[in-house]
Amino acid sequence: MTRKKLAPATIAIHGGDGPRHAGDPVAPPLVQSVNFVQEVGTEAGLLYTRYGNTPNLQRVQKRLALLEGAEDALVLASGMGATACAMLALLRPGDHLLASAQIYGGTLRLFTEEFTRIGVDVTLVDPFEPRVWRKRMRKETRAVFVETPINPSCRVIDLRPISYLTKEGGIALVVDSTFASPVNFRPLEHGADVVIHSATKYLNGHHDAMCGVVAGTEPYIQEVLQKMMLWGQAPDPFAVWLLERGLKTLDVRIRRQNDNAMRIATWCAGRKEIRKVHYPGLVDHPDHDVARTLLDGYGGMMAIELAGGAKAADRFLRRLRLFVHAASLGGVDSLVSEPRFTSHARMTSEERARAGVPDGFIRMSIGLEEADDLIADIEQALK
Ligand code: PLP
Repeated sequence: MTRKKLAPATIAIHGGDGPRHAGDPVAPPLVQSVNFVQEVGTEAGLLYTRYGNTPNLQRVQKRLALLEGAEDALVLASGMGATACAMLALLRPGDHLLASAQIYGGTLRLFTEEFTRIGVDVTLVDPFEPRVWRKRMRKETRAVFVETPINPSCRVIDLRPISYLTKEGGIALVVDSTFASPVNFRPLEHGADVVIHSATKYLNGHHDAMCGVVAGTEPYIQEVLQKMMLWGQAPDPFAVWLLERGLKTLDVRIRRQNDNAMRIATWCAGRKEIRKVHYPGLVDHPDHDVARTLLDGYGGMMAIELAGGAKAADRFLRRLRLFVHAASLGGVDSLVSEPRFTSHARMTSEERARAGVPDGFIRMSIGLEEADDLIADIEQALK
């Protein structure tokens, strides 16, 4: 059987590998040295960790580019570092950035508190308002930024109408695809120009490495590389080694997380203590049709709203035994967190309710444990 294109599961293990030779290590060696012997009389081949040209980094970047279907990819020190450098490579003072208001809180602050200070005009919009992108685009608009699926609401944005407009206007469409991972969604296949990940989440998958990814065209990634070098956003080689190790199991992890979340969301939907379940795999989710069309899996992220509000949430979280109450997401251990104490802590209770995350809203990152055990844990904590 000949296959033109390798499947994500295979790319995640072998993508970008050269031929193997007798004596080569099978597991990737960690090269932690920050500098490498340089030939005298030339700047060629200069290897230095902050330049992002060290062996662990180069191998994993090829693999990530293949997974996203991009010409090139860059690994940076964190998801925030990836977003900052990706946008700095696109925007100049006087440019307009049109961004979804429903994005990770750190990204929101980066745009509204930092980018506005360097002369970038930022407009935030409700991504679900009809025709909003066309209405708010200007001749100075250089980039459109969305996150999908959205943290923490699990809403899914249809990229196709947005990409139609950005292509028409020569505007870069940048997508934070952290919640999906390339197993469930590859935004470049749906008209995006740039993909960003907090690789701290699903790509690493084990809650033990911090890094970020930007994928796009080769010339654009070269621009992002310049920002990464000068703003000091290169990752440590050990974090990259952990990322490569995590990537090897990406496909099986994501499939199991998809299956577990679907089972748990379905079970939660039948409980009277739970007012609402947010999971795009459920047929009554507002974006179920978009998710079914665009995604290869509905993901491991879901949220519940407890009927008893904040008090019930407090009690529920204290009673959980398997779910760990912790920040971050996308790893092997199931986690729970409350946006009212994390991403939405700066808002009032009323503002949070208007933003779709009322008190009693609990975000759940479903891990690789047995779904029945996780359901039993939720059941005992609800009692
Ligand atoms: N994007 C999303 C959707 C996130 O959830 C996060 C972190 O939670 C980030 C970006 C930032 O990533 P990092 O924490 O790796 O800097």
